[in-house]
Amino acid sequence: MIFADGMARLGTESAFTVLARAQTLAAEGRDIINLGIGQPDFPTPPHIVEAGIKALRDGHHGYTAANGLPALREAVAADLHRRHGVEVNPDNVVVVPGGKPTMFFAVLMFGQAGAEVMYPDPGFPIYHSVIRYSGATPVPITLSEENGFAFDAEAVLAAITPRTRLIILNSPANPTGGVTPRAEVDRLVAGLADHPHVAVLSDEIYSNMLYEGRSHVSLLQYPEIRDRLVMLDGWSKTYAMTGWRLGYAVWPEAAVGHATRLCINDHSCVNAAAQFAGLAALTGPQDAVADMMAAFDARRRLIVEALNSLPGMRCAAPGGAFYAFPNIEGTGMSAMEAQNRFLDEAGVATIAGTSFGAEGEGFLRFSYANSAENIKRAIERIRAIL
Ligand code: PLP
Repeated sequence: MIFADGMARLGTESAFTVLARAQTLAAEGRDIINLGIGQPDFPTPPHIVEAGIKALRDGHHGYTAANGLPALREAVAADLHRRHGVEVNPDNVVVVPGGKPTMFFAVLMFGQAGAEVMYPDPGFPIYHSVIRYSGATPVPITLSEENGFAFDAEAVLAAITPRTRLIILNSPANPTGGVTPRAEVDRLVAGLADHPHVAVLSDEIYSNMLYEGRSHVSLLQYPEIRDRLVMLDGWSKTYAMTGWRLGYAVWPEAAVGHATRLCINDHSCVNAAAQFAGLAALTGPQDAVADMMAAFDARRRLIVEALNSLPGMRCAAPGGAFYAFPNIEGTGMSAMEAQNRFLDEAGVATIAGTSFGAEGEGFLRFSYANSAENIKRAIERIRAIL
């Protein structure tokens, strides 16, 4: 067999590798505390599960429209109006199996040899992977600890060239929990007026996960870039639905047909029962989301304080998502060394910052989607090693 060149350029998401290793160790009888994987540890709220079961019982076993059930796309538009105060045409919404397909489709749509695509570093590793796969040149946007891991609009704008096709933004961010303030987004959008050839993919999958009264800044709130904005969101994190595989994007008018054709070529449609479950999630009671966020906030405070009590570590309070991203330089260990030692010697799974890009050296990602008790146990085990 002779594989296509692109396969050698496709990367991966180390969280899944660490998860597999943690599961192997657990199967060998080790007591593993998993602070590695980025998924809520809560079950999907029961009324959402019931809606999925009911859809199956009611006979929704066939294909749906490739871009998603009309009722679901209308519910997405209503939800975006409720949360961000924006008008969205349901015809611009494309429902896909999770957050990742939108990423892949957007990069395939704009990336090719000779093009440049900008992405956050440290950032979600799939951005870099699929940019390389597309043949485009990945251009990192460095996010720094001093800046709270927010985007620096001037730095982003300064890196744009005539070959830039797409800029990927993510706030609240994985792996840092960083939140870009509105003033910075204002500056970025204003500057983009000078670069009409550049499209924007705004990954807002953590838009419901903000702390200390912050409200989400959606790129949809900027009408001046609507004609070149792809806004990604989904159900995975907000409704603890990672395994259902359900996400969506709002596509600009000129791109929505391309996105739908990519769906038809790739997966036809999202499974019907998951779409009915997603409809119940958006139209039903939201108290489960509030309860989950209250639990995350308590754990966030706990883990930040605990990490700051460890020798050689310092950790700023993340403004969103469910990750803490402490600086571990003072431990004398590299990010990968710390990841491996904490897993092998302490049975605590975390992810090396370098799994999220070169700028992640000296940092470790802790997902606090685990119980307060387990977080405390994990920290004490790490303290023993340090
Ligand atoms: N975007 C970011 C920033 C993420 O962290 C993740 C998952 O961890 C996704 C997208 C993908 O979400 P999904 O599991 O719905 O594909």
